[in-house]
Formats: sequence, structure tokens, C-alpha cells
Amino acid sequence: MGRIYLDAAASTPLDPRVREAMLPYIDVKYGNPSSIHSFGKELKVTLEECREKIAAFLKCKPKELFFTSGGTENNNFAIKSLILTNLSKSNKKIVTTTIEHPSVYETVLYLQERFGVLVEFIKPENGVIPIDRVLDACDEATLLVSVMHSNNETGNINDIGLLKQKLQDNIYIHSDTTQSIGKLPINLNALGVDFASVSGHKIYAPKGVGALYVNERVKIDKYMHGGSQERNMRGGTENLPGIVGLAKAIEILEQELEEDIKHYQFLKNYLIKRLGELDFVSVNTQIDKSLPNIVNFTINSNKPAYEGEILLIKLDLKNIAVSSGSACSSGSVKPSRVLIEMGLSEAQAKSSLRVSFHRWTREEDIDKLIEALKEIVS
Ligand code: PMP
Repeated sequence: MGRIYLDAAASTPLDPRVREAMLPYIDVKYGNPSSIHSFGKELKVTLEECREKIAAFLKCKPKELFFTSGGTENNNFAIKSLILTNLSKSNKKIVTTTIEHPSVYETVLYLQERFGVLVEFIKPENGVIPIDRVLDACDEATLLVSVMHSNNETGNINDIGLLKQKLQDNIYIHSDTTQSIGKLPINLNALGVDFASVSGHKIYAPKGVGALYVNERVKIDKYMHGGSQERNMRGGTENLPGIVGLAKAIEILEQELEEDIKHYQFLKNYLIKRLGELDFVSVNTQIDKSLPNIVNFTINSNKPAYEGEILLIKLDLKNIAVSSGSACSSGSVKPSRVLIEMGLSEAQAKSSLRVSFHRWTREEDIDKLIEALKEIVS
């Protein structure tokens, strides 16, 4: 039996069309885009064409995009640069949530512990962040609000549009859109946030490449010190093969996003329906307020053997790959912070699974998962 990959929220497969587009840049187009000879100039043109293509899709200006290594760097870049730029000011409080990805959560904890930055954390209610609570926590000392667009473990979507509408203009908004881009139609201009994130390996491009959106109204210091690449904001020779791959992945989304979403939504509905057959399952995802490609559920069994890690291994032995909590925290046996914050017990959080689909996931893959769960939990 072939292996079934239901962990696309951790990393998508590479689209063969992306690979094809990248090959010349790994092979013959090896110059440095900062060089002034023809090898370099040609790549500089490509680099800017990629930026324009991505900006057109996201509905922002090319100069508002900075190429990076991915979601983790985007979140560090946005939050640290803004806070360090304003370090000498008294108004630098951050309002964020307890369910952020570690690249946000750990970053704000670091700023709190190391630099005494005030941080207020808002808890989810029914799996989503209550925007009213976020607004209530904002005061004259607040510089930044960071609320993720969608959660990587549950897929639940937060109402960033409402946040933008109600928040006073002098407070910056960072929203981690790493899981949302390519799964929802995102128009950055309409969303109105100040910082947003794209990561290549969540949208069928390779790992190690991404782009940070910084609204042109934001004035921040350089993040990575070195050369003057990325309009002197992020030093380091650009990852041209990765950036070409990212732009190709975006070009594909431009054509196929609608089709992708329909496909994910069909699979999600089908999975929810089939999970309904299993009396030992409760779904943690807010079905109507979540990404179309992620479903998180708990195996409610009184047998201790059904902890997530063990379930995961048993499913892996049946050639089915899913995730327990987020991939970034696997290897640790701690229950998921996100699920605990949502009110699950330690035992429930530990026996929860995340299933996430990709472009090539089929209905029969879900059938096989359901059959495997029936066999394992009996
Ligand atoms: N934010 C979210 C919501 C994510 O899901 C991830 C990836 N797990 C990241 C940030 C980090 O992205 P990357 O793996 O590209 O560093």
C-alpha cells in the first residue's frame, strides 16, 4: 500500500511545476543578483519579477514584500524589528494570544523577559480569539497587536477584519497568515494589517523561503545586518531558486486557488461526515469558521494507550501520516498548548490528531484513515 500523507499543514509536497521552474536557478542561473555583471543583472530582474507576481496576488505593493526564509523568520522579523525600533519609547506594549505559533509566542516571551516589554495574552473562546477582549486589552501604551489569521493546529480562523475595523489606527497589527495564504482568498490591501506572512512550504514551494509583508506606513529598522539586499532591510544573498519556486507556487494559486479550496472543502466535509461514524471522536475544529484543509479531533478513549504520539505511530505503521498538535512541537511529549488553552484536559489534548489535506489528497485516503482508526481504537 502506498503511503498516505495527511499532514500538509506541516509541509506540502512540492508541486512538480514549481520544481520545473526552479531547476535552471539551481543549475545554470547561478549568479548573485547583487553582482553588476550580466549574470547578476539577469537575476536581479528575475528577483523583482517574482516580487511583483507575489504582490499582485496578495494585493499589496512589491516594495511591501521582503524575501525571507519562511514563517518563523517573518514573525521574528516583524515583531522584533518593530519593538527594537521603539525600544526607547514607553509605549511598546504587545497584545497577543495564547494560541499563537511558537515563532510569535516565544518571540514575545523573549521580549518580555529580556527587555521588559509589557505583553498581554488573550485566551480563545470556543476555539477562536474574542476580538472584543483584544480591543479591551489595548490602551495608550499599546504599540502592537498580534493575532494569528488562522491557527495551525485547529485551522480556526480569527476575525482580523473586525480587529482592523475597530482598532485605533496608531496601533500596529501583525497577523500570522502563514496557514491562511493559499487556503483562503487573502487580499492584504483589504485586510489592512501592517505585517503578514507567506511561507513557501505551506503552498507547494520548497522549505526555507518566504516573504514578509510590511505595510508601507510602518517604519522599522533593518532586521538582518549585512549587505544592502531587500532594500537594506534584510542582509544576505537572496535564495533565488527558492524565490522563483515561491513565485511559481503563487502563479499556480492565481489560477487554481478556487479549485484548491473546493477540493479541500469537499475533503473536509467528507472527513467530518466519516468521523461522525466513530463514537469515540470529538471534533475540535470550528467547522464553519476554519480553514478548508485542517481538521483536529480528539480520540475519547479511556485506554491510556491512545495518546496522540502512540496513535500517530500506530497510524504510521499503517502508512498514514497525520500530526498530533503541531509538527514544530513534536518530539516533546507535552500536550498541545493550543488545545489546553481551548479548554481540553491534558489527556484529551494528548490524544488529539490533526489531519490536513493537500492538492492531491483523495477521498479514498480519508476512507483508509477512518478504517485504520476503527482498527486501532477498538
Ligand atoms: N506560523 C504558523 C501559523 C505556522 O503554521 C508555521 C509553520 N508550522 C510557521 C509560522 C512557521 O513557518 P516556517 O515553517 O516557514 O518557519
